[in-house]
This record gives sequence, C-alpha cells and structure tokens, in this order.
Amino acid sequence: MPVIPLRNGGPAARIAVIPGDGIGAEVTPQAVKVLKAVAAPCKRAMEFVEFDWSADKYLREGVSLPPGAVEMLRDEFDAILFGALGDPRVPSNQHAADILLGLRFKLDLYVNARPVELLQDRLTPLRDRTEKDIRMMVFRENTEGLYVGVGGFFKKDTTDEIAVQEDVNSRKGVERIIRFAFEYARKNGLKRVCMSDKSNAMTFAHDLWQRVFKQVRREYTDVDSHHLYIDTLAMEIVRDPSQFDVIVTCNLFGDIISDLGAQLAGGLGLAPSGNIHPGKTSLFEPVHGSAPNIAGKGIANPLGSVLTSAMMLEFLAWTPDATALRTAVRAALRENYVTPDLGGNKRTPEVGDWLAAKAVEALGQT
Ligand code: ATP
Repeated sequence: MPVIPLRNGGPAARIAVIPGDGIGAEVTPQAVKVLKAVAAPCKRAMEFVEFDWSADKYLREGVSLPPGAVEMLRDEFDAILFGALGDPRVPSNQHAADILLGLRFKLDLYVNARPVELLQDRLTPLRDRTEKDIRMMVFRENTEGLYVGVGGFFKKDTTDEIAVQEDVNSRKGVERIIRFAFEYARKNGLKRVCMSDKSNAMTFAHDLWQRVFKQVRREYTDVDSHHLYIDTLAMEIVRDPSQFDVIVTCNLFGDIISDLGAQLAGGLGLAPSGNIHPGKTSLFEPVHGSAPNIAGKGIANPLGSVLTSAMMLEFLAWTPDATALRTAVRAALRENYVTPDLGGNKRTPEVGDWLAAKAVEALGQT
C-alpha cells in the first residue's frame, strides 16, 4: 500500500534508530543493512544514529526516554526507525510506555498507518482468498482515546476496588484522522473509506466520531464512505476482506483490528506500520513486539522491519528505493528465503544479507 510522501524528498536524511528489546534488536540491524545497501546506488545520503533506549538501559541506569530526547528527535532527525520494546524483567512495561507512547504523544504522531497487504496467496489463513482480496490501509488514531493514561484507582487492593480509565476524544483529534483517511483515499485513487466505532454503546465519545465523520465526508463526495460498528467490522474483514480499501478508527479498535489484519496477511512477522505526523519527524516500527519467546535465537523474521523501512522511504518521498525493498521482500517469499515462522529455514542475518543484495539488483532493473 502506498504512503503519501510527506517530506520533501531531498537527497539527504537523518534517521534515528531505536532497536529496543528482544527481537527488535535483531531485526532492526537487518533493515538498516538493506537501507544502507540501496542508499548508495540511489545517491541518497542517509545518516543513521543509533540510540540504546531499552530495558537494559532502564534496568542499568533507571533511564527510559532521556530528558531532551523528544526535542532532539524533532529538531535533528527526519524519521525514526524503531524495533520493539518489552522485556520480562520489566513487568510494568514502564520503559516501553515512556518511550513509545511518549514519542507518539509528544511528537503528536496522530496517524498510525497499518497496511494490511497479502503478498503471497499461501500466507493467508482464509480459504480461497488471494492477493487481490486483501489489500487495505488501517488508520488508527494514535494520540487519544483510551491510551492517554487518564484514570485512577479507588480503594486499591481492597475487595471494593474500582478502576477508572477515561476515553479521551477531542473534536480536533477525531477530525484530523478522519480527514487524513479521506485525503489518502483520494490521492491514491482508492474508492472506499469505512469509519468504525461503537457509537451504539459509547454514546458520548463515539457520538462525536459520528458527527465529525458525517461533516467531513461531505467534502469528499468522490469517495464512497460508510460506517460499521467495530464488532461488525471484525466479522466483515474475515468474511470478505476485499470490500475494504481504507479503514479509520479510534486508538483501541485500530490496535485490535490491525492485528487481526496482520494475521490475514501472513502474521506479525510481516506487518509494517508508521506513526506519522504529516510533514514532521515520524516513527516507523514493525507491528510485532519484542517476542521474548524467540529472542536471541536468530530466527526472528526481519521482513516486517524491512517493509516498515519501505514505508519510511515513501514518507521521505524516496519511492524507487521503497519499491526496491518491496521487490526484495516479494522475491524472498517467492523463493522461500525466509525464517521458520513463514516455513523457511533461514536465520535472521542471512535473510537480511539476501534482501540487501536483491534490493540492489531490483534497483538496476528499474
Ligand atoms: P511484546 O510483549 O513485546 O508485545 P509479545 O511476544 O507479547 O511481545 P509479539 O512480539 O508481538 O508479542 O508477537 C507474538 C508472537 O508472534 C511472538 O511470541 C512470536 O512467536 C511471533 N512473532 C512476532 N513477531 C515475529 C517475528 N518478527 N518473527 C517471528 N515470529 C514473530
């Protein structure tokens, strides 16, 4: 799925690299390797600066997101390539919340773009579905909703305990993500936008989503738009995924529905995402987490991180480079040069080396 180019497409870019924990630290170097391989033939000056923000650092120094980090990333970098955070030694996941949610909120990365694209028929668990049926973009609101951390406990640790988690929705926040979805559909010639909520039960928060959707869609009469309740959307995506081009929804529902989509398109090892503020420093990460169960074994699938890097290149308006990365990933799937999660027997760095060579080869053919 194409991403709207949002940066100037100039010949140089500075990329902050945050590999993080677990398999994040294994797949991200492979993606950087592939990016470096295509940068030279494309005459791009891509500078990579790595940051060791992770569970290790948090446990060692008590530092999650260092002071001044947000301003530094915002002012000195074009994009952030992110791995994953999560470690059984930090059960509270505090460092992950500080770093990832901190960057999403403080850089105001309000678009979470999660393409769901089947790259090879054999990878979907759905019977009789093919590549042409599963190709949609999920836009998840990324700065509000139930993830803002507003709430509290009353009578904690007693039998009368109450926990409250507030769902925060601003008109500005709802409007900009819905508008982004329509703009994306229009610019990419996609016909259908589906807004999903639970306004029949969440009669305040999602009443706002309904009203804003009805207002914004009037400006996009060239795009077919409709609404589905989130439970119906979950059923319909499985029943007939071919009916969707663009889906836009709130933070929580987008989190869930995009994981459902990832499974329909071959699993978490293949799913990319972008956390975007149009025109500003944005963050790109594979959908998967740190996967402690397979970390350190050298079998993590790097394709999700490489497809994530392709999204980052498109954000930078470097389309030929992005296409080369995608061509290499398709070739790896075709030739079964893949890790065990996809039925192959290759190790993570072997796949990275192979993709780097294939991406350069693909550039020569364009
Ligand atoms: P976290 O707590 O950081 O979210 P997790 O293990 O709960 O990690 P994920 O890492 O998102 O969740 O993935 C769930 C499972 O999917 C993993 O345990 C792993 O078996 C598989 N998986 C995810 N990503 C990959 C990958 N890149 N390569 C191979 N298997 C993967």
